[in-house]
Amino acid sequence: MNHIHQYCVFSALMQGFSSDGATVSDILSKCNHGLGTVCNMNGEIVIIDGEAYHFTPDDKLHKLAPTDRMPMIVATDFQPTMTKSLDTLRMDALKDALHPYFPAKQNNFIAVRLDASFKRIVYRIGGPQLRPKESLLELAKRQTVKSYENISGTLFGFYSPPYTNGLCVAGFHLHFLSDDRRAGGHILDFEAEQVVLKAAVNTHLHLEFPQSEEFNEELILPELAKDLHLAE
Ligand SMILES: [Zn+2]
Repeated sequence: MNHIHQYCVFSALMQGFSSDGATVSDILSKCNHGLGTVCNMNGEIVIIDGEAYHFTPDDKLHKLAPTDRMPMIVATDFQPTMTKSLDTLRMDALKDALHPYFPAKQNNFIAVRLDASFKRIVYRIGGPQLRPKESLLELAKRQTVKSYENISGTLFGFYSPPYTNGLCVAGFHLHFLSDDRRAGGHILDFEAEQVVLKAAVNTHLHLEFPQSEEFNEELILPELAKDLHLAE
């Protein structure tokens, strides 16, 4: 329980690798929550309660086929070990809200789910690549940023400790799904009310590497990881 299954590393996305991936059926056979993207980085994926949702930059929800591939997916068989209710919560206070996991578990991965009524939520939908190997940083420059007021929904994602940046995205990485299933994407900011916060420390990270030749065409440069926070 609470194992992470991840395909590929975030530094590879920074160099534009997005042509192969784990299948939806493979991930959903092991995991019930997660986040990621599709090939050519055309939008954002969020997995909630065993269902995968894919939003494209035109703000449309698409159904994923079991055989569709996800060049980046971070997912888990989420079984919360902590649940708490909060009247209000802002994104910048999330770490404090996860007490006592912080700082006691700060060098661990922590899966986080938040069900709430959002007074304000800001998210983005990235992509698609306009040419092969276009980097995540380039995509971030033309990302679609959306915001809503008074919308209820669910956030799911992970806290990844600082030493993992590059393989993962250090800090919180959260994706959104509205209760009416019409809106979703990668969270930039939120202000929530009537919050139910659930979390679990992830005990294992299973990392699958692409076996395609394309993955090894160019050396993944470690220095690209420092800009991950600008793109993810
Ligand atoms: Zn994201």
